[in-house]
Amino acid sequence: MTPEEFSKKYQSEYEKGLIYPICPNCRKKLHLYGISSLTQKARFDHLNQSSNCELSDPKKAKDFPSYDFNNDEIIKEYLIQENQRKVYVLCKKLLGNTKFEYCKFYELIEIANKRNIFYYKGLKVWMILYILLTLQDFKNEKKDYMIRFVIKDLLVKTLNGESLKNEIQKIEKHRTGTKTRYIEMTEDFFKSTDDSWIKFILNSERYLRKN
Ligand SMILES: [Zn+2]
Repeated sequence: MTPEEFSKKYQSEYEKGLIYPICPNCRKKLHLYGISSLTQKARFDHLNQSSNCELSDPKKAKDFPSYDFNNDEIIKEYLIQENQRKVYVLCKKLLGNTKFEYCKFYELIEIANKRNIFYYKGLKVWMILYILLTLQDFKNEKKDYMIRFVIKDLLVKTLNGESLKNEIQKIEKHRTGTKTRYIEMTEDFFKSTDDSWIKFILNSERYLRKN
């Protein structure tokens, strides 16, 4: 439903506070912005920006992918032990020599869950690791430098890609300067990743409760 349609149908109830739109992502109350403006495009707005909801940032919101909250298949697929392991193994690999503990991995899964990234329309299991890595900065304690992963293009474009060629940028901030390199990913590469060296069961399930 567009803001215009909403306003047409529910304006009087909305003004009385009887009906209000909610964010499909964070479930918070939204308000109508710019509905009677001639210069601004009307939109639904969050009352406050929140780091748990990308849609609450109006600048970013227009570039964000749509959500499919009925798609539990992707979570089922992710929870297959082999897939969880591959996601972990590849995150670790892309971090290079930086320590990547399992608790850190679960922390990323938890953040991803809070932000509903598993419900991005078009998300495939082999793309998950890329998005996980962009959720936080990492620190290489031993050599004292920061690592940040950035999606180069619009996320929505990335999600429609068959392979993620040069789609993710790995930026290392050393004291002496910044090193940048691009990383590729394909479904085949994901599938052929060796996860056999992980000797115990990964359990992300408890971090994937419905918000
Ligand atoms: Zn929201």
